[in-house]
Amino acid sequence: MESPFLFGHEAAGIVVQIGEGVKNFKVGDRVVAHNSAPCNKCYYCKQGQHSMCENIMFNFGAFAEY
Ligand SMILES: [Zn+2]
Repeated sequence: MESPFLFGHEAAGIVVQIGEGVKNFKVGDRVVAHNSAPCNKCYYCKQGQHSMCENIMFNFGAFAEY
């Protein structure tokens, strides 16, 4: 991720809009997002050590309104 970016990596909120085809969430649901996204393809992910992922992406921007 390149700076600048919004602070915050522990996001929680309320679903305000649903995309086409989304079936597991509805408007008004209270949700929390995981703070990172492992690739599930590298050596560490395949060993179940997702926090060691070589390609992990961090989900910054939790201080954003949406
Ligand atoms: Zn990985």
